[in-house]
Amino acid sequence: EKKIRKIRDHVNEYPDFPKPGVLFRDVFSVFQNAELVAMLREVLIAFATQIQPPVECVVGIDARGFLLAPFIALELEVPFVPVRKKGKLPGKVASVSYALEYGEANMEIQESSIKEGQRVLIVDDLLATGGSLGAACTLVKKLGGVVEACLVLMELSELKGRLNVPTNVISIIKY
Ligand code: 5GP
Repeated sequence: EKKIRKIRDHVNEYPDFPKPGVLFRDVFSVFQNAELVAMLREVLIAFATQIQPPVECVVGIDARGFLLAPFIALELEVPFVPVRKKGKLPGKVASVSYALEYGEANMEIQESSIKEGQRVLIVDDLLATGGSLGAACTLVKKLGGVVEACLVLMELSELKGRLNVPTNVISIIKY
């Protein structure tokens, strides 16, 4: 629809960032304009409220997932929970390592943040290889949560990242 097109038009593209050959799509440029932020919020909520049964918790992925997930959590009146890169979260955490293009990385979640059987939505800005969303799914399951769906603003379809995510992935803008 019109709002999605407008948001898409305002995602700035940076060739060869953070390294040669990568076209980086920067969601921060949307946040330069309050009207666009309001549209983004509406669109995210429209997609998230279609998920049945309703989710009981919204997980956002470090760092740009933190911009988007709280809009949804606030609207649904459910908790927002962060998944962060290793060493950022205090207290007891569950950890998972996942493959990057070169080498690997670790992500963590606070142990007490999700209850057994809780239905969870995982949110990030962009799906590339699916490594990040896949790792977040593993963490939620480790704590006994049930991942109902993942929601991303942008999907790089040609990378087929959704094959690495063991649940339904909803993407709003496809490239
Ligand atoms: P994946 O784990 O699916 O390979 O990569 C997705 C993660 O990398 C997301 O957390 C996303 O924020 C980041 N990422 C990878 N490429 C881009 C890009 O072009 N633009 C933005 N905004 N993030 C990217």
